Formats: sequence, structure tokens, C-alpha cells
Amino acid sequence: MTMFRIGHGYDLHRLDALPPKGGGRPLVLGGVRIEHPTGPVAHSDGDALLHAVTDALLGAIGAPDIGRLFPDSDPLHDAQDSKVFLCEAARRVREAGYALVNLDATVVLERPRIGPRVEDMRRSVATMLGISMDAINIKGKSHEGVDAVGEGRAVEVHVVALLASTMG
Ligand SMILES: [Zn+2]
Repeated sequence: MTMFRIGHGYDLHRLDALPPKGGGRPLVLGGVRIEHPTGPVAHSDGDALLHAVTDALLGAIGAPDIGRLFPDSDPLHDAQDSKVFLCEAARRVREAGYALVNLDATVVLERPRIGPRVEDMRRSVATMLGISMDAINIKGKSHEGVDAVGEGRAVEVHVVALLASTMG
């Protein structure tokens, strides 16, 4: 019996002006709405933080990734609240006999800086997962003006998650 499993999640969304100027969706990270003139281009709501957390959980149990479980081609997922993806991943983790110990996320976003909203995001993700806020760490990072992420044309998120067996 494997006591611990580690998972890694990564996501990137192109950022575009909000309608009518562009095709971006309102910027949402970890279920927290952030007022900004640009937002993710996505089939779902484009919550890159929830997508990366979802993939970290699915990866830890060796399940198919978010793109395979919830294909872009499915009209059901148009503008889908990404909480649905995360909750399905969490359900699969429980079903596999594991529980999340902690996760650590890095959000690479040139602007806006997420620092003032990090506590809201931690609380939001912790609530969705039914886990203590202590288990959720989120850091914001700039890309120092380098490439598309640094030019504010994309948001990128990296997550690692540790699971422990609940079967003793
Ligand atoms: Zn995504």
C-alpha cells in the first residue's frame, strides 16, 4: 500500500480584453473574481488556478487529466464553473482512498498582482475541498516582463499536491 502520492498540475490561459473589445472571460482565480480589463480565453470559465489544482489531484492518483475528463468539445462545459472540475477530482481522490495533505501553488501573472487576494483564494479553494486553509498555499509571482506571460498576455499556474492514504 502506497501511503503517499504526489501530483503536479500546470495550466496556462491566454489573456484577452473583455468583450466587446476582445474574447476574454472575467478573470477568476481559485473561484475568486478579480476586476481587471483582461481575462482568460477559455471554453470553461478559464480558472487557471482551479484547473492546475484539479490536474495535480488527478495526477496524484494516476487518473486522466482535466482535458480528457472534461473535453473542450463538450458544449456542456461552455463557461463551466471550474469548481465542478475540482469537485470531481476531489471525489475521485476520496474514492481512490486518499486525502489531500497539502498543496502549494504558484500563480504567474504580470498584472494585476494577486497578493491582496491570496487569502481569499486560499479560503475559497479550502472551502471547495472541505479542508483547512493551512493546507492550501498560494503564491503570486511576476514573470519580469519576459515573454507572453511577462507581457500580460497569459496567466500560468503551477501546483504540487501531496495525498495520504486514508486506508491506514
Ligand atoms: Zn485551464
